[in-house]
Amino acid sequence: MITLAIDIGGTKFSMAVFDDDRPIARESRVTDRTGGRDWMLDQITTIGRKWQRTIIIDRCGIGFGGPVQFDLQRVALSTHVGGWQDFSLPAYITHTLGIPSIMDNDANVGALGEYTYGAAEGIEKLFYMTLSTGIGGGILIGGNIYRGADDYAGEIGHLTIRPDGAECLCGARGCLERHCCGLWLERDHGKSAEQLMKDPVFVKTYVSDLARGLKACIMLLNPERIVIGGGISKAGDALFVPLRQELRQQMTSWSRARMEVVPAGLGDDSVLFGALALANQL
Ligand SMILES: [Zn+2]
Repeated sequence: MITLAIDIGGTKFSMAVFDDDRPIARESRVTDRTGGRDWMLDQITTIGRKWQRTIIIDRCGIGFGGPVQFDLQRVALSTHVGGWQDFSLPAYITHTLGIPSIMDNDANVGALGEYTYGAAEGIEKLFYMTLSTGIGGGILIGGNIYRGADDYAGEIGHLTIRPDGAECLCGARGCLERHCCGLWLERDHGKSAEQLMKDPVFVKTYVSDLARGLKACIMLLNPERIVIGGGISKAGDALFVPLRQELRQQMTSWSRARMEVVPAGLGDDSVLFGALALANQL
């Protein structure tokens, strides 16, 4: 079975072809935010058609960086790139590339990737958080994505962690995403998240914000494991050691809920592998 996997993010997008679960082609490009949806669609069709000249692709799985209405297979919106509202990307891909396609929010897809192939194999109660251009969350129970009543479950990025904090792209103040995602770290501090994670003084303040979000997740879900993916998670111990320490301090004293927080096992590819796992549902 040959699967096309697509990961659409606010900073970069990646595409891969899998022969069963073995990647045989891969491409990553920087997302042109000003080009919006049309630019992205053009990239997807160009790369897809190029591969289709030599490979017969059977199906396609997509992780999209923004809320997705799963039943309708439509993007709800993207706060980072314009023009996506109510767009059915799978229908577009089926139409242009001629292959059946399925899509979900990238954090849900990342959760599926880590559960099937990464740092959460066999973990039945999983919370996956993507710490990237934005922040998203995916809840996986027994290998199934918990989407909630309206497909908006897991949106940890817009929990309020500082009521008097800065204004988020969603219009509210003090969201976890506003204070901890890559996009705003760069805008607020004039340095990339990668550079900032090398500064222990900065990381100390950063993890106090991040832990507030994770504490809410643990109090509400008591997950067996929390896997953090996305570019910022690649900071490794420089981030995870102080984060675990801070989380232990913030947690409600009587709670014996475990606090197992680990980086993604698939690095940059959680969403691509998740898209492969998602396509298995077609
Ligand atoms: Zn927000």
